[in-house]
Amino acid sequence: MSGFEGLPDTRTSLVGITDEGDEAWLIRSISQKLYRCPGCHGEIMIGAEHVVVQYVKRIGGTEHHHWHRRCVEEILVGELRRVRRVSANESQRGKLESRGRRPAGRRRRS
Ligand SMILES: [Zn+2]
Repeated sequence: MSGFEGLPDTRTSLVGITDEGDEAWLIRSISQKLYRCPGCHGEIMIGAEHVVVQYVKRIGGTEHHHWHRRCVEEILVGELRRVRRVSANESQRGKLESRGRRPAGRRRRS
């Protein structure tokens, strides 16, 4: 994951595109409950820093998962295209859910 070590953090999120053409927003978070990481199927403990992966689908709609940071770095980021940094402010959940209300071709550029 060259160039993105330590990201996302509190100020900076990442966004890339999946093979399906969906946006994948990578957002730093602290877990409020126990989650299971889709990368390794292991647990993410309460209070642990981790990464929320919020998908904004090409056809509209959103979906999110909680991942270990190392699993994002070792597995997920390599599967995304055109990964770039964005302000964490741009990746607020409300903004992404609003973005998901339109299909990709009808979204304003961020
Ligand atoms: Zn994991």
